Amino acid sequence: ASKGKIGIIGSGLIGRGWAMLFAASGYEVCLYDILPEQVSGALDNIKMRLQDLQKAGLLRGSLTADEQFGLISGCSDFNAACQGALHVQECVPEDLELKKKIFSQLDAVADDNMVLSSSTSCILPSKIFSGLKHVKQCIVAHPVNPPYYVPLVELIPHPETEQSIMDRTRALMKEIGQSPVSLKKEVDGFALNRIQYAIIAESWRLIQDGVMSPEDVDTVMSAGLGRRYAFMGPLEVMHLNAEGMKSYIERYGETMQRVLSTFGPIPDFSGPALEQVDTAMTSRTPSTPEALTERRRWRDARLTGLARLQSDM
Ligand code: NAD
Repeated sequence: ASKGKIGIIGSGLIGRGWAMLFAASGYEVCLYDILPEQVSGALDNIKMRLQDLQKAGLLRGSLTADEQFGLISGCSDFNAACQGALHVQECVPEDLELKKKIFSQLDAVADDNMVLSSSTSCILPSKIFSGLKHVKQCIVAHPVNPPYYVPLVELIPHPETEQSIMDRTRALMKEIGQSPVSLKKEVDGFALNRIQYAIIAESWRLIQDGVMSPEDVDTVMSAGLGRRYAFMGPLEVMHLNAEGMKSYIERYGETMQRVLSTFGPIPDFSGPALEQVDTAMTSRTPSTPEALTERRRWRDARLTGLARLQSDM
């Protein structure tokens, strides 16, 4: 017997990822897409990936690949995909008008118990959910690609979202093996992209100001900071790099403020700096679909290795 039904709207990259995560924990998943061929393509792709994961010993959960696949069904009817679901996860393209349309359709079929959740990367909950009858049950659950190997999910409430919906969704994300974080209120870029953009901005300035090459900037992260950040956040790094947090601030607080006061303005991401970064990146991986796909495979293999390492922690 399944644990309950999950509806997924949009069966692209992210919809497929969610379907696999929910099925791995024993939920029944109904996958809907406006294009029926996307759903059949998604099912074929999921079946193959589950078999590959099983062969590699990386399948999540305690069910076999066949059992997990058996929990996922394609659905050509929006209402049928959502009716009776505990949680509906929207995964359509990043377009506000489209998302609003989907959520008004969802509002019409939702009961008072369903969680209505969006995978949006950048659109604020108040833009998508305001005015809906079930606004109290609406939430953004923003995954990171590829969700099967990168467990973070950012949960962002609408100002009217009930705390119980935040709590329920956080528990559900933990249950399916993800690592949820909760924002107490909406903020542009949520948390991951705000932190990511701060890193990108300073990386760009170091290149623009002629301090370093693009390759070396990337190495600062991949061979330095990123090594620690795979296991712990910047705050815990501080705590361990001195005799605790307060000792770190005593030692380095003024230095941090001095250095931070030299940070330049927001880069415009154009001109000679863009040419320089583009040349550096394309010399390793040309911007062609084939080369990018191959490099993404390389990345995913490393993420797989890291996931294996972290499952032992
Ligand atoms: P995608 O283009 O791979 O998939 C979108 C799917 O939605 C397609 O299958 C499309 O046919 C379907 N669709 C379009 N209109 C529809 C409609 N009216 N009803 C039902 N289905 C419809 O996109 P994606 O990369 O999976 O992104 C989906 C969402 O997830 C976006 O909001 C995106 O910002 C977010 N997200 C993406 C990533 C990422 O790295 N790709 C990461 C986190 C969040």
